[in-house]
Amino acid sequence: MVLLEKEIDGEVFNTEFEFDDEHTKLVKEILKCLKGKTVDVPIGDEANGVIPISILDWFPIVCSKVKFDTSGGSYITFFNPSIMALTLRALLELKLPSIDAFAGNITISRDVINCDDAFRYTLAHEMQHAINALNFAYPALTNWDGFLLNTIQIKEVRTSPDFNPTIDRLTKLDRIQDEVSIEEELKTLEKTFGSPINTWYEGFKIFVNERCPKNP
Ligand SMILES: [Zn+2]
Repeated sequence: MVLLEKEIDGEVFNTEFEFDDEHTKLVKEILKCLKGKTVDVPIGDEANGVIPISILDWFPIVCSKVKFDTSGGSYITFFNPSIMALTLRALLELKLPSIDAFAGNITISRDVINCDDAFRYTLAHEMQHAINALNFAYPALTNWDGFLLNTIQIKEVRTSPDFNPTIDRLTKLDRIQDEVSIEEELKTLEKTFGSPINTWYEGFKIFVNERCPKNP
């Protein structure tokens, strides 16, 4: 098992990668690609201010567990409850949720178990979702008042019964990568994981075409 650690105010948060030896090797390879890499996140102080933060350092805050799906399903997911938690909390109490509330889990379909590139690409894709979540987790945790005021501009929500402006902003911060073209997605993933992502994607594409020849 590979473990990433982050300490905040004396409390330790982990990402556990629970895989067999063979896939642990692939995980280590992917994490090596993230070494020294940063992501620009809002600082909350002002409407457009951003700061680069270490991806590996902050990853445990947005993802606590990464493993193969054991239910036999064929989906691959990153689930992060923070958007809903933040939206409701922000509207009802304007109180910072516990740090745990920001962590999601990644479940990888066992379908990709025999194709290394498909495993690498799908894991990278799901990890990118978690990395995107740092866009709201970081400013919320480091500057809650600034986050409400500047990042999601909560003032509007409090004066309107409409949730949408806040949800829109949080969704934008998540940079929904499933709605962009594959070229655009690969550009984002390359910034995070480096050029190997293109090889992984080529392998993934062949894997998908062999399984479902009708897919383009
Ligand atoms: Zn996705």
